[in-house]
Amino acid sequence: MDQLTTTPALYEAYKKRLQEIADIRYATALLQWDQETYMPAGSITTRSRQIATLSELAHARFTESVTGELLTNLLERKDLTEEQRSNLELSQYDYQQQVKLPSGFVRELSETISNSFNHWVEARKNNSFSLFAPWLEKLVTLKRKEAELMGYEHHPYDALLNQYERGCTTELLDQLFSRLKPALAELLAEIKQQPQVENRILKQHFQEDQQWAFSMDLLEKMGYNFHFGRQDKAAHPFTINFSSEDVRITTRVREEDISYMTWSTIHELGHALYELGLPNNQYGLPLGEAASLGIHESQSRLWENNIGRSLAWCTHFFPVLKSYFPQQLEPYGPEDLFRAINKVQPSLIRTEADELTYHFHIIIRYEVEKALVEGSLEVNAVPEFWKQRYQHYLGIDVPDDSNGCLQDVHWSHGSFGYFPTYSLGSIYAAQFYATLVKQVPKFEKLLQEGEFEIVKNWLSDNVYIHGRKYTSEELCRRITGKGIDPEDFMQYARDKYRFIYAYKLEGIIL
Ligand SMILES: [Zn+2]
Repeated sequence: MDQLTTTPALYEAYKKRLQEIADIRYATALLQWDQETYMPAGSITTRSRQIATLSELAHARFTESVTGELLTNLLERKDLTEEQRSNLELSQYDYQQQVKLPSGFVRELSETISNSFNHWVEARKNNSFSLFAPWLEKLVTLKRKEAELMGYEHHPYDALLNQYERGCTTELLDQLFSRLKPALAELLAEIKQQPQVENRILKQHFQEDQQWAFSMDLLEKMGYNFHFGRQDKAAHPFTINFSSEDVRITTRVREEDISYMTWSTIHELGHALYELGLPNNQYGLPLGEAASLGIHESQSRLWENNIGRSLAWCTHFFPVLKSYFPQQLEPYGPEDLFRAINKVQPSLIRTEADELTYHFHIIIRYEVEKALVEGSLEVNAVPEFWKQRYQHYLGIDVPDDSNGCLQDVHWSHGSFGYFPTYSLGSIYAAQFYATLVKQVPKFEKLLQEGEFEIVKNWLSDNVYIHGRKYTSEELCRRITGKGIDPEDFMQYARDKYRFIYAYKLEGIIL
């Protein structure tokens, strides 16, 4: 590479390279979207192959030495703009991370994952952990190797956490969870003393096509622009983007429970608004990407829980929902909806947990993963450990493996270190929400009136426009004046649930 090439010309070459790689990545994503929505089941083998080829192509192109040389050359230049420097530094970080994994290792991992996934599906169907155990064993071995290849300072699991949440460590999570656990346990004990809330309003027959129409209406009213997106049905709801001009979501419907679809749709809406709000002129570059998984999850949870499960939201949307289901909702009012959707009850399945007990599901998975990676827990002992932890934290008996340690897909995908980002997301969401409420006068009233644009604009100014410029911790400090701290989440939880369970009414903001 010619040292005499001008910086703008060289930066253009970098941009072109990254944008072409992004073209391949997003084309892959479109194949994945199709696979989860409309693809005929018979084409799964060919589709897996197509996706694998494109993924390998994108990875190979990015890790070519010419990328590294381009980045080193550019980063030595003094005439870069701040924005250019940010992009280049982040790309260099990505490059250095990705070249740590030899292609032989990447292939071995991806083949093991394909097999593990199939065995996990079988094991779950047959309710038998032992069918999955040999594959989990292989995955844990590979993940330990990966941790060694990536490098870490204190704990091998830190290297895996860092891949999903840059800078996240076991030390940070241990501290966070050691504060969250007793505070949550205390609140759950208080709630348990009170009469349980009623949720019959949700458990009626809600016709599928009417639910679908309601979800489309709701998305539009909450700020989703169908000119740049669409909603479809999928078994496991997700959000996927092909640029910030095409961000799609999926949902699923259960006719006997209106909440099953509704809050999942709002959750995905939160992810989608973030992707739609990322700077379009940074397509393919780090500044056009989300900050981290934890921040992504903060966006979905802020919309789903802080906004979507508030009394203000229920007040605004109850009449809308009633217009779709007049008969079912006739005997009820917004407060009934509000209480019903916030019922707290320890349960077996993570994805169906309320927002308080949810954290214990994550803490348990974190403890399992950390112990597996450091070697203090044998793979064969996972089901027993799982049962013992569910009894310890949630006071419930795990009847079998399918409802226990086989319930999540993550491990079969090789995703170790992913789960904690869900808890981080809730904690960041509470911190952002507390700041938003302070900064926007009469916020609750505006919410009741359906002024969701205000939330979107606030998030756009504070989160979306920065792309990946800041780490989660830096972004949190910029917005809230402090780093990650579970206290805002606990304050929000105490205020809300003491009100719902109606045993402490003072000092409540509705
Ligand atoms: Zn999510």
